[in-house]
Amino acid sequence: MTIKQALISVSDKTGIVELATTLHQFGIHIISSGGTAKLLQEAGIAVTEVSEYTNFPEMLDGRVKTLHPKIHAGILARMDLPEHNQAIQNAGISPIELVIVNLYPFVETIARADCTLEDAIENIDIGGPTLIRAAAKNYQHVTVIVDPEDYPILLTEMESGNGAVALTHRFQFAQKAFSHTARYDSAISHYLTAIDSNQQQQLFPDHLNLNFNIIQSLRYGENPHQQAAFYRDAINLPGSLANYTQLQGKELSYNNIADTDAAWECIKTFNQPACVIIKHANPCGVAIADTPLAAYKLAFATDPTSAFGGIIAFNRSVDAELAEAISKQFVEVIIAPEISLEASSILSQKPNIRVLTVPLQMQTNHYELKRVGGGLLVQTPDSLNITENQLKVVSKAQPTRQQIEDCLFAWRVAKFVKSNAIVFCAQGQTLGIGAGQMSRIDSARIASIKASQAGLSLMDSAVASDAFFPFRDGLDVVVQAGARVVIQPGGSIRDEEVIKAADEHGIVMIFTGVRHFRH
Ligand code: 5GP
Repeated sequence: MTIKQALISVSDKTGIVELATTLHQFGIHIISSGGTAKLLQEAGIAVTEVSEYTNFPEMLDGRVKTLHPKIHAGILARMDLPEHNQAIQNAGISPIELVIVNLYPFVETIARADCTLEDAIENIDIGGPTLIRAAAKNYQHVTVIVDPEDYPILLTEMESGNGAVALTHRFQFAQKAFSHTARYDSAISHYLTAIDSNQQQQLFPDHLNLNFNIIQSLRYGENPHQQAAFYRDAINLPGSLANYTQLQGKELSYNNIADTDAAWECIKTFNQPACVIIKHANPCGVAIADTPLAAYKLAFATDPTSAFGGIIAFNRSVDAELAEAISKQFVEVIIAPEISLEASSILSQKPNIRVLTVPLQMQTNHYELKRVGGGLLVQTPDSLNITENQLKVVSKAQPTRQQIEDCLFAWRVAKFVKSNAIVFCAQGQTLGIGAGQMSRIDSARIASIKASQAGLSLMDSAVASDAFFPFRDGLDVVVQAGARVVIQPGGSIRDEEVIKAADEHGIVMIFTGVRHFRH
């Protein structure tokens, strides 16, 4: 099929004059949008401007140039259908068999250091992708070119085909066209996703101006030969550890602060009275109960050995009875929203215990920062908390009410355990926690060993895994240990094998669809 009419609308005008000259020599009528038409006319090539062709001016600062039925019906008409032929003929439209478009330089624009959101938005091409997609959809009748590098191929094709392009090539150009618009849209989507929706500002600017003020210098860092200090974010977050009040006890160490932060961030996620005990940044016991005292007893029972010298957090006021109970163990730090006067006087008999209060407010850092050699990794905090209606039961067996609650609790704890994390729970109490192993199966084994060392039965327990089970072996271990319900993200290529294993064991398996790596 000989090409009679072409539409050219290009941002990158490289090679377009040469191409249009040859197309003109083929006797092709060229329609062109404003800027392109001007350039071609200046080069002495006869072109019809889109606005002249459609009898409709370009408008809205170029936002609307080629978006017109006369253009799009010309591209989309199926020339093998008499009705289509008739329809465009009736409307005075002639077919466009060649579309040459390249898009507004969105990627190049956002790469510029001074690019604003407005610049980026104005560089989202609307008419261009529409032309490309229409032409690619109708590749049976239309040739679409999106890349100046393809101009020579097009011309060679046309020369050998007497002004026509072979179907195989039209199909290949269409494939390329759809990949091109898909990449273009995905660049827009990635860019917009990184913009804070409240402030409509780039979340990750090119230059990060961090503003932190010193709170105190510390005796030493993670180890005695390291020097250290504690800084507070200039952004005011009253519910965060940096706003602590110390009621008594020895000076806070670097490790105390790091571990207390883990405890405080974890405890804040529970609504019911809860207790979190942390050792070396990992929870070694977490529980919810009717009172903070009951929660403390359950949390302590998970792993009394590790709880020795731990950091203990509560989301309720510490009263005298609770203070008495805690005083019986060796504890480094207690953190709570409030300490009653009686509790304070009981704790003061152990003057080394650091007792901190922080207002119970659910706030998270704007950024999470992690230094790497010569650089800084920045991410938004993992503040995702799933709710019951997001759970997906994938096993044949269905969960009981209690199992759902156990799963939600186990999942909440797993988020605060270093990966790979395996957390056994029942009735609002952690029973065994496996943390920080390089293999999930080892975390599962450790969690079950720890439960048995603490004399806790895992029979009928729930177990959470912070990321999917890559193989069924990890699942087999937790089921052998006594779990009857498993909560995990799902998403492994072997999900089917793992679900089948759950069904073989007759246990319940629930997918969350999200994971909580913590490194
Ligand atoms: P020109 O320089 O010819 O005025 O504009 C060419 C650019 O406009 C090409 O990048 C093409 O993708 C884009 N374009 C063509 N039609 C439209 C339209 O209707 N709206 C928008 N926003 N861009 C268009």
